[in-house]
Amino acid sequence: MTDKTTLTIIKPQAVRNLHSGKIIDMILSAGYIIKAIKMVTLSHDLASKFYEIHKDRPFYENLVKSMTSGPVIVALLEKDNAVQDYREFIGSTNPAEAVTGTIRNLFGTSMQDNAVHGSDSDENAAREASFFFSEMERF
Ligand code: ADP
Ligand code: MG
Repeated sequence: MTDKTTLTIIKPQAVRNLHSGKIIDMILSAGYIIKAIKMVTLSHDLASKFYEIHKDRPFYENLVKSMTSGPVIVALLEKDNAVQDYREFIGSTNPAEAVTGTIRNLFGTSMQDNAVHGSDSDENAAREASFFFSEMERF
């Protein structure tokens, strides 16, 4: 894994609101190459593990509940400086504060249901890629 890869999740609320197509189109139009993509439904255990770093935060249980409330679309994206660029592209965690035109600004409905996840470091991008995708899928 290099600084060319990041992992995104289109969260359940955005999938449910039929925004996946628009979000994927924005990602491709911005120059990201989709290396791998799939729709999955997270179990409580898997979502808890994915957000384990936040386990002591007050929003943790509701976040896990929301992330397991329906299918998500997980994708590995490739582009130079992928992690940093993608974080900028999706906007701030709070959709109300996200820059106009960013994915979270356009499709997020709350701090919790902010449309998409984006890895926050190269190290976490690598960890998240192997969390979701087998070696064959990550080729
Ligand atoms: P980001 O996804 O921007 O990296 P964090 O890592 O801080 O943000 O938080 C992980 C996820 O937890 C956020 O994307 C959001 O869904 C949820 N979250 C973060 N802070 C809050 C909060 N104060 N209230 C409710 N949900 C939150
Ligand atoms: Mg984060």
